[in-house]
Amino acid sequence: MRPLPRRLDPLLREPAALVAAAASAQRPLRELHAHLLVSGRLASPPHHAAFLASLASSSDDDDGHLSYARLLLPRRPATLFVHNSLLRALARGRRPHLAFGAFRDLPLAPDNYSFTFLVRAATALAAAAAAVRAPGLDANLIVRSVHASALRRGHAGDPHVQSGVVSMYSAAGDVGAARAAFAEIAFPDAVCITAMVGALATCGKVDAAREMFDGMPLRDHVAWNAMIAGYVHAGRSREALRLFNEMRNAGAAVGEVTLVSVLTACAQLGALERGRWVHSYVHSCGMRVSVTLGTALVDMYSKCGAVAAAMEVFDSMDRKNVYTWTSAVSGLAMNGMGRDCLELFKRMESTGVDPNGVTFVAVLRGCSMAGLVDEGRSCFDAMKSNHGIDPWLEHYGCMVDLYGRAGRLDDAMNFINNMPLEPHEGVWGALLNASRIHKNVELGKYAMDKLMAIESKNDAAHVLLSNIYAESHNWKGVSNVRDVMKAKGVKKVPGCSAIEVGGKVHEFFVGSKTHPRYREIEIMLAEMTQRLRLHGYIANTKEVLFDIEEEEKEDAISLHSEKLALAFGLVALPENMEIRIVKNLRVCKDCHDYTKLISKVFNREVVMRDRNRFHHFKDGACSCRDYW
Ligand code: ZN
Ligand code: ZN
Repeated sequence: MRPLPRRLDPLLREPAALVAAAASAQRPLRELHAHLLVSGRLASPPHHAAFLASLASSSDDDDGHLSYARLLLPRRPATLFVHNSLLRALARGRRPHLAFGAFRDLPLAPDNYSFTFLVRAATALAAAAAAVRAPGLDANLIVRSVHASALRRGHAGDPHVQSGVVSMYSAAGDVGAARAAFAEIAFPDAVCITAMVGALATCGKVDAAREMFDGMPLRDHVAWNAMIAGYVHAGRSREALRLFNEMRNAGAAVGEVTLVSVLTACAQLGALERGRWVHSYVHSCGMRVSVTLGTALVDMYSKCGAVAAAMEVFDSMDRKNVYTWTSAVSGLAMNGMGRDCLELFKRMESTGVDPNGVTFVAVLRGCSMAGLVDEGRSCFDAMKSNHGIDPWLEHYGCMVDLYGRAGRLDDAMNFINNMPLEPHEGVWGALLNASRIHKNVELGKYAMDKLMAIESKNDAAHVLLSNIYAESHNWKGVSNVRDVMKAKGVKKVPGCSAIEVGGKVHEFFVGSKTHPRYREIEIMLAEMTQRLRLHGYIANTKEVLFDIEEEEKEDAISLHSEKLALAFGLVALPENMEIRIVKNLRVCKDCHDYTKLISKVFNREVVMRDRNRFHHFKDGACSCRDYW
């Protein structure tokens, strides 16, 4: 046998150092194993356990380690400590369900540690079941059986098991059971309170979580992470970013989990400056860009409209999983780069990464935007035949959009008639939108009736129908829709546009005059309108008055939220900097025309993200080619 490399010497003396070696390649570990065997040290249970654990916990990179570890186990009489080490590694690994088999095969009665790890495995399974659509997996049944088993064996009162049970129920989405388990604990420690904060935050009870969080005398990074993730999950990204600042001031350890949440918040807000800051923070503290972190970066850049930066991160990642690819594919689709999107998807298939349903939604959207009807159709067919994925309703909606946008309304209708599933609002909504684009009032009315039968208070649907009428100058139709909306009490969501200046996100609502720099904004708005008029911009007030959009227009058309944000951008940002605006609703035709002209007259690039897509305005044109 070759002598052991010197650098591995310390590992032989210290079991803990062996565990640390888990991150190293498989060959040195196997070499070590040989030396441990020869030197007789594996007879000592701590060494044996540490060795197994190190093998098993490095299974994230290579499943070979794990099977190697499992292979070793039955060959020698092992203590419960060794078995528990393996259980722990399995629970933490990529395939937590394997822990159940190992638990069942325990040669000795399980102790409180065994249950701690089993509970952790169940938590991981429940979280995975919530993250992906796994119809065969009943997370509730699993977590309840694990809890029942711990109770029966008398280990449910162990502090680690108790707080684990709280997290487990929360991962399964059962906040009631989590609360009940929490109430059982006489003196909950920080770990347990943190688990409860996490449970409440995950289930959307963010304010209750915050109350408990604020009451904690000591908070570690886990508590901060749970609270920040809770805000992001609830779509309250500004609060998430605020809390992240507090976390840094409090000196808590910022890690990958924190940064992934913060990047998601930046993506939701379209806060590119903040997102870039996170990226440079990752570099400056020498953090390794893992698959998860890299994927979050790709997603953030895509959703902030910075496609080039997204692709740069994507290309620099040596390991990519299905989520990484999907983020990139969907980023290209969202930004109107349909051909690139399809190409990237083909590259994904050729590298052997199996696309999932979400990937197909993205690629179908990309095809639809680029008018690639045949390519989209073959992707749709390949989903079932090559990848065994039964299309979801969303995919059918995408296909109707694909045909409809391309003007093939008959094909769209045929496709709907041959659907094996009952069409949902997305399908009829896509047909309605296509009818709007191609000004087919009759088909629009038909789609609208279908839509109304499903959900009668859908404001967006009413607005779309009224637009179809307005664009075909049918003012009577428009006012009818309006009356119907009033009678049904259909409420419109207030329009809101956000713009980031100096790392701070500023929000504007329709006609809002409350911004501290409103005086400057007002002057800029006047200048904008004046300069656009010189270039032939006319706000067609009659049409505008009738063409109700998702935002109210009656008071003054110049005060739509995106125009306010645009004016503020011109006032507050340096001259060579593009203006980035994120809007919660679909951008209206008037604002779209207006922004196109601004990009030309003021020689400024404007990137606007509305509810569905990006508009990159430059030199008087938009990347959506006026189809949105
Ligand atoms: Zn508008
Ligand atoms: Zn556009």
